[in-house]
Amino acid sequence: MAPVGSKRGVLERLGAGEVVIGDGGFVFALEKRGYVKAGPWTPEAAAEHPEAGETLPNNRRSQLTGESQKHISSSIVQGPFKMRQLHREFLRAGSNVMQTFTFYASDDKLENRGNKLTFTGQQINEAACDLAREVANEGDALVAGGVSQTPSYLSCKSEDEVKKIFKKQIDVFIQKNVDFLIAEYFEHVEEAEWAVQVLKATGKPVAATLCIGPEGDMHGVTPGECAVRLVKAGADIVGVNCHFDPMTCVKTVAMMKAGVEKAGLKAHYMTQPLAYHTPDCSCQGFIDLPEFPFALEPRILTRWEMQHYAREAYKAGIRYIGGCCGFEPYHIRAVAEELATERGILPEASEKHGMWGSGLEMHTKPWVRARARRDYWERLKPASGRPLCPSMSTPDGWGVTKGHAELMQQKEATTAEQLRPLFQKADCKH
Ligand SMILES: [Zn+2]
Repeated sequence: MAPVGSKRGVLERLGAGEVVIGDGGFVFALEKRGYVKAGPWTPEAAAEHPEAGETLPNNRRSQLTGESQKHISSSIVQGPFKMRQLHREFLRAGSNVMQTFTFYASDDKLENRGNKLTFTGQQINEAACDLAREVANEGDALVAGGVSQTPSYLSCKSEDEVKKIFKKQIDVFIQKNVDFLIAEYFEHVEEAEWAVQVLKATGKPVAATLCIGPEGDMHGVTPGECAVRLVKAGADIVGVNCHFDPMTCVKTVAMMKAGVEKAGLKAHYMTQPLAYHTPDCSCQGFIDLPEFPFALEPRILTRWEMQHYAREAYKAGIRYIGGCCGFEPYHIRAVAEELATERGILPEASEKHGMWGSGLEMHTKPWVRARARRDYWERLKPASGRPLCPSMSTPDGWGVTKGHAELMQQKEATTAEQLRPLFQKADCKH
């Protein structure tokens, strides 16, 4: 393990042809654990549940109101702080990157549609950086500060206004000296370009991932062209994250790579897909599925399917391989196990996991011992256990994107009058 302060940077690792394993999506993982609200999906958990108050220094605690002080006190009594624990679980599973839990932590998103927060964007971003750094220093991991799409862009605000929002988050990342920066979860390449330009000005390495599939961005810009534009904007690493399943993401990144190479440019490639199967999604990805976000469980990939994903990503020339929504630490461990030979190391968490089910050799029941082999798990077609479960769904397909009236965002809570026509429109479609 490299001592703290002497770790090799992300571009150094990728430049040497090494595999960099990312982490999983904190928003979904922490929602299931009760620390994130589905809907706003904002990451205030970074600041609101510090374990024994360690991550929130006294000077900031004293700025808090009586109500939030009470909140913190009760969480001290509750015990373990899940975010730190989740970072540790991913580290133990083989992650080389601790991404700051700053998804949707821009000020305009934090206060969108009536979301009431006790903490400022700055406090949330600072606390997330401290947590990621603390755990990264326990192993061979780097810290990446992340920004994502903004409501301001959807509401057609100007380039200057949107860039100012990114700049506020990035000022915190620079002050906290993160190792590199990620612009992720952009569905319009134009907004991602703006983010990359702001990130690049810091001098840190920049990764940029769009949440697009083979059909391209929400305005129909192809993956190849998107990638070329991101590289020209200054991204060192390009790829996709979220919205689509692993194999669709590998296919999309392969299209990006072909575009970049055809343009005579150079980049490293990255994929951080969903852990859900999405063969039925169109360009809007899984948020268009009727099961999003509370009934996606039957679509989860098994660990063996993740090994297949890791191999195919590697074969496609992708070297930054991680995950997004739905990924749990055991999925990342599967990626690390599949690429153990290439990386020359097995993750710590494999101490409790025999490769390809070999731990089952110790099972008391003989028919389960018969499953202690690779070809059994590779050939298995897992059942859903739901007799009426369809294999595919019909995506909503409203087809609204930036510039459409229904996508204008607001600070105030959504009213009943605003919801009524949406319910009616949805009922007409089903
Ligand atoms: Zn995601």
